[in-house]
Amino acid sequence: MAIIRRTKIVATLGPSSESPSVLDKLIKAGVNVVRLNFSHGTPEEHRMRAQNVRQAAKNNDIVVGIMADMQGPKIRVGKFITGKTQLEPGQKFIIDASMDLDAGTDERVGITYKELLTDVKAGDRLLLNDGLIVMDADAIVGNEIHCTIVLGGELSNNKGINKAGGGLSAEALTEKDKEDIITACGIGVDYIAISFPRHGADMEYARSLVRAAGGHAGLVAKVERAEAVEDENLKSIMEASDAVMVARGDLGVEVGDAAVPPIQKKMLRMAPKYNCPVIVATQMMESMCNNPIPTRAEVNDVANAVLDGTDAVMLSGESAAGKYPVEAVEAMHRTCIETEKQHVFPSPATRDPRYPPHAVDECIARQAMETAHSMPIRAITAFTDSGNSVLYMSRHLGDVPIYAITSNENTLGRVTLFRNVTPLSLMSRYGASDAPQATVDVKTMMLKANLVSKDDLIIMTFGTPMGHSGGTNALKIVRIGDSLS
Ligand code: PGA
Ligand code: MN
Repeated sequence: MAIIRRTKIVATLGPSSESPSVLDKLIKAGVNVVRLNFSHGTPEEHRMRAQNVRQAAKNNDIVVGIMADMQGPKIRVGKFITGKTQLEPGQKFIIDASMDLDAGTDERVGITYKELLTDVKAGDRLLLNDGLIVMDADAIVGNEIHCTIVLGGELSNNKGINKAGGGLSAEALTEKDKEDIITACGIGVDYIAISFPRHGADMEYARSLVRAAGGHAGLVAKVERAEAVEDENLKSIMEASDAVMVARGDLGVEVGDAAVPPIQKKMLRMAPKYNCPVIVATQMMESMCNNPIPTRAEVNDVANAVLDGTDAVMLSGESAAGKYPVEAVEAMHRTCIETEKQHVFPSPATRDPRYPPHAVDECIARQAMETAHSMPIRAITAFTDSGNSVLYMSRHLGDVPIYAITSNENTLGRVTLFRNVTPLSLMSRYGASDAPQATVDVKTMMLKANLVSKDDLIIMTFGTPMGHSGGTNALKIVRIGDSLS
């Protein structure tokens, strides 16, 4: 029987990985969700990429989710006439909001967000190129921010710029994001990631745009702004989102690198209370952009995210622009598998007073997890239309695999992100009295896929009477071989 990896792998598509042949290899190596970076490319290119992902998934007969990642209000410097400049510590440099965006020199450069002028005051620290270059603002003079370089280096075209400590006024959703949300909904992506949300209200606004565009996508909040990790804001973000991403790249620049690990741990601790899946992202296997194997520290980083109960680990540059995209997925896969093997999962937190169940389906989901731990259960099979029952189940760390059985295409895509949940597509639709038939079908399907053997016990959960859309309200324990010829 195949070993199932419980932690999901998200991989970013880019020049290194978007050809159909590499995509096929990525999916064979175990990618569960492909991330399309909307910072690069036209709507037509995104549509093509999504089509290629779906084709590759179909060729491999598995479900792969698609996440469209919005660019958000990433502030960038303009271009340089010579493509770049070399900055030395102590040197003076000007960020000039009124100059041409492509006319940068060794003395000054333009900026994509003019309002930076009013957000920055003398004494503020600016970080460019993910913090590799640091400059302090000495004075604001007209449309110019006069700075002194603290940490020098090469500054090239269009590099990002952050303010230490956060506090930039930029709205989370730009005009480009609003158009890209419409494109992403048209493509029918499973998730849309929102960059730089400040609080839950930003996510609610994004949701209203997705609804207006007729999309079904779940919303991922990229937590990457100093304001977003304040307790109240983080709580409202988790309430308003379908998943959160520990977006360690920009977050590390805003709050300082040393503050990122405790924030990651805090998010992973908080998320179950809000039934909110978590993706740990950025630089997880960064050295694999250039090397075919990860460093020990990177392997440890991935393993620790798994031990802390993350739903997914993510590859960015490693799979988008690195030399070894397939090897990076393989390295994540083996790290997750090995860590999950070693980890003795605590019994489910079904009686944890911090997490009271809210509804009938959540109670059934809890009970399924509890039962799976007190009996030798091989698998949990959940008939689900919305995917909610498996979301609730997968919030509880456990080692019994959960299968989401559904004929709802959107739900198949949605559950690709959930820890320990495998989507299984079901062709039949059932009527009110079809529970016996559904039981036979699920047993046959699981046997055929070599996921169980005849002597195994499995749990089934479903809504009864069947055929009505409505919440899960029943749990059944069946032996695969019983009443099967
Ligand atoms: P990005 O987001 O890769 O789109 O910048 C992730 C991060 O900041 O970590
Ligand atoms: Mn970011």
